[in-house]
Amino acid sequence: MLYEFELLQKYNINIPKYKVCKNIDQAISFANEIKYPVVLKLYSKKYTHKSDVGGVYLNIRTDEGLKKTYSDLMKKIPKKDIQGVLVQEQAKTGLELFMGAKADEQFGHIILFGIGGIFVELLKDISARICPIELPDAYEMIDELKYKQLLFGFRGTQPISKKQIAELLVKVSKLVVKENIKELDLNPVIAYRNKYIVVDSRIIKG
Ligand code: ADP
Ligand code: MG
Repeated sequence: MLYEFELLQKYNINIPKYKVCKNIDQAISFANEIKYPVVLKLYSKKYTHKSDVGGVYLNIRTDEGLKKTYSDLMKKIPKKDIQGVLVQEQAKTGLELFMGAKADEQFGHIILFGIGGIFVELLKDISARICPIELPDAYEMIDELKYKQLLFGFRGTQPISKKQIAELLVKVSKLVVKENIKELDLNPVIAYRNKYIVVDSRIIKG
């Protein structure tokens, strides 16, 4: 996850403030530095799908709350499988999108885009292109989504910035080609009216 966030930063992709902490004192001091609310996540080589093992705590608002969730997490996961905890700035609620990429033997890199969060598997609404892509391709990928209405305001939801998301798709496409990435998963990318933030990523080098 450290490597992931550093790589995203190198390509000017927006991520929350974060720190991998080795103990509760470090976690508390970082949470105070970035200000509550914060998110606490399991940092483990073994468990990369963190929610599946109860490894993601949202809406932590106080030192006491942080202590409690920290000790909960330590009880839940065997010590040998914990490499630390990730403390992250909590992002505001927005529309959760998904971006992925993989290296294909036949086609080279393929980039994927869709509605994210809990809806990825339910909606199976994904568009794909062979990399590298340019801005017009990225706009097309957005327009191809069956449920694209979700992105542009639906029954009172905020429309999100198409431009920001299209530019992000282009950046991700450049990243996977230049860094020779085998597999990349940004889920969720939380999108808003005029910005986005990538709060979770999994990247495997080629
Ligand atoms: P995993 O996919 O490994 O289970 P995530 O880091 O994606 O773990 O966290 C699970 C969910 O928690 C996300 O889909 C998102 O809804 C929420 N979440 C995670 N990190 C943040 C954050 N920094 N701010 C706000 N919500 C978050
Ligand atoms: Mg995730």
